[in-house]
Amino acid sequence: MKKKKLKCPYCGRTVGFFEAINIKENLNFYCKDCKGSAKVKISKDINTFILILLISNTVSFLFFSFIARMFLLGSLITSLLYLCFYLLVPRTIVLKKE
Ligand SMILES: [Zn+2]
Repeated sequence: MKKKKLKCPYCGRTVGFFEAINIKENLNFYCKDCKGSAKVKISKDINTFILILLISNTVSFLFFSFIARMFLLGSLITSLLYLCFYLLVPRTIVLKKE
């Protein structure tokens, strides 16, 4: 997968991961450098991510709970899947000039 860095639409400054997570929660972007503000849009890629997450979570839950009977390992894998999902979130953010 090609790495798509999130950038300020005004000055081109690269937005860091934690800043991107923050943007996602606030749905507002204010650049620290140029003081520009931008609208936050979530790209449609997030639907694909959510779908993959739901399917893999269901499959691992069923497998580890009923077939392997390793519920703890199942929960661990589920948590890891959520973590991966969270790490992908900044890639789905699109910043638009106001
Ligand atoms: Zn900027």
